[in-house]
Amino acid sequence: MNKSLEQLIQISKFDGQISSFGPQIKAQDDKLKQFTALANKLKADVEERYAAIEEAGSKKTKNNIHLDELKSKLDDVAKKMDSISTQKEAKALQLEEEIAREQISFTNEEIGRLDNIVELKESELVDLKVSLAEEEETVKALEDTIGTEITSLNTQRDEISQKREDILSNVDTKVLSFYQKIKRWAGDTAVVPVKKQACYGCFMKISDKTHSAVLKSNEIVACPHCGRVIYKETEAEAE
Ligand SMILES: [Zn+2]
Repeated sequence: MNKSLEQLIQISKFDGQISSFGPQIKAQDDKLKQFTALANKLKADVEERYAAIEEAGSKKTKNNIHLDELKSKLDDVAKKMDSISTQKEAKALQLEEEIAREQISFTNEEIGRLDNIVELKESELVDLKVSLAEEEETVKALEDTIGTEITSLNTQRDEISQKREDILSNVDTKVLSFYQKIKRWAGDTAVVPVKKQACYGCFMKISDKTHSAVLKSNEIVACPHCGRVIYKETEAEAE
């Protein structure tokens, strides 16, 4: 086989392999991101519960202060009751007492409601913390395996890049620039085999004359339809 053709086939194969590493590495990264996002969501949920408990606690404190105020108000009313002289005054004090008792009942209800919130959030917190710990373990383990996997992929890619470089340094510059021109639009299918007398890049049938040139492999042949370099399919590729 023509030496330059052989080199182009190799370079194109390496280019294809090198391109395939990007998506593989990205897939690993995405997998890790997915789990990290889940862990972050759980972390945010835990924070939310803590904030809710704190908020309920501070509201409860305010309500307790209010409750104390209302109770001293009741004491005041009781004291005043001893020194009233008219029915009008008595009525006014009774009304005051009624209102204070009503407010005490409201405030107690509110404190009960806040206690329920704290209880609920605390029980949710227990479950969330368990889930978060599990998720963080998973992320940690994944970071290790994915890190190893990505390192291995990078090593493989570097090895192929090195092999590609070795060939590149030996390729005729005209042949190389011819290949690069095709690669600009054809990407990793710049050099393709011929199968069943058709270009495997554009899938168009080639003439008997071109086909026979391809089979001889004495020169670099371009597909008359698309311009890709075409070559005789090897047995391994035919399988
Ligand atoms: Zn073609």
